[in-house]
Amino acid sequence: MKVEIITIGDELLIGQTIDTNSAWMGRELSNLGFALNRRTAVADAAEDIKSAIGEAFGRVDLVILTGGLGPTKDDITKKTLCELYGCGLRRDEHVLAHLSRLFEKRGRQLLEINKIQADLPELCETLTNEVGTAPGMWFDQNGKVLVSMPGVPNEMMHIMTERVFPRLKNRFSTGTILHRTLLTINIAESLLSNHLESFESALPDGFTLAYLPALNTVKLRLTSRSEGAEPDAQMDKLFHTLCELCREWMFAPEDVVPARYMARMFLENNLRFTLAESCTGGYIANQLLLEPGVSAICDGAQITYSNAVKMRELGVPESIFSTVGAVSEECARYMADGIRKKMGADVAISTTGIAGPGGATPEKPVGLIYIGVSTAQQTVVKKYKLFGTREQFMQRACNCAMQLTMQVLKGEAAMISDSI
Ligand code: AMP
Ligand code: MG
Repeated sequence: MKVEIITIGDELLIGQTIDTNSAWMGRELSNLGFALNRRTAVADAAEDIKSAIGEAFGRVDLVILTGGLGPTKDDITKKTLCELYGCGLRRDEHVLAHLSRLFEKRGRQLLEINKIQADLPELCETLTNEVGTAPGMWFDQNGKVLVSMPGVPNEMMHIMTERVFPRLKNRFSTGTILHRTLLTINIAESLLSNHLESFESALPDGFTLAYLPALNTVKLRLTSRSEGAEPDAQMDKLFHTLCELCREWMFAPEDVVPARYMARMFLENNLRFTLAESCTGGYIANQLLLEPGVSAICDGAQITYSNAVKMRELGVPESIFSTVGAVSEECARYMADGIRKKMGADVAISTTGIAGPGGATPEKPVGLIYIGVSTAQQTVVKKYKLFGTREQFMQRACNCAMQLTMQVLKGEAAMISDSI
């Protein structure tokens, strides 16, 4: 069952607002078995809205709109829908009562302009909005369904979840779409696709593999589309094979943010962690600490930039700086061991490198980084050559650190490739 999304609003076209509504709806509709073939963004302009809807209905029987439902003059979707369906407005008394309650609760006066929100096209069914002022609309005419909702993301999500999804399930029969995603770190998309060439070409009908690269991660999404029964077992088998093929680079058999996933793993295993960061300036600690609850398993972490602080706080010997230097395997090892013992942690991560854009020498270029992971059993240090801006360097370094930590914890540290 095909569906199209049309998002309405000048702000979407001039880049002032990012169209997160489409992303959310795409994910949710796809999980319900709808195939999203196209999405369109249009200005708050009647002719553009009408032609976009007309064209979409030339291709599909279900079109979903968001935006343009505010009470102000710049929002014209409702008026445009009346023109399109050739109907007038009716006042919905339930919506009006809801607005009165809402404004009273918020201590605000209900103005005439607000009451306009209760006026809806005669031909639509009201989709009540309990979290905002603009209701959604459901038109079902000549075999074609049009849903219109406000652009405010949490209101759209509420109306979709509570009102639209149940109606869609009744109104349309869908096939089944399944997605399974795994996340790899430190393998280029092109190498991965070479590696998976025979797997990909042998995929059964209805299965597709998508590559989603970002910084030094690539997500692999296996999708199955079928009209009949759920192809769960086949999907499980193929996804398992895919994970095995990607074992060397797979961080998680899920669609995750590496640091958040790592933090959850620390929590689940009650592993106390700490960090001594030099070139990443606390970025990795910050990413791990975004996960709620981790304060229970992290007493603290340190940013240790200067040689003096590395010596004083972590016990890095002075001889390191006069021989191999601060950006070295040895230094990363001392840092990781030093902070682990100092904090009494189970796992410690250290970083030392050249984030750039300055600070490079011929032997130590921008992007060079040593990452250390120390546990009571072993300390592993790996060297990486990263690239990109200072911020991208830190993001990539964080992903590398998460991968190395995961491999150390799984006893697979020897498998990691040194650089990318
Ligand atoms: P509207 O329904 O046009 O009054 O939209 C209200 C607010 O929702 C605007 O301030 C937009 O920034 C936001 N918004 C509208 N469309 C989208 C969209 N597709 N994705 C995310 N936010 C949106
Ligand atoms: Mg608008």
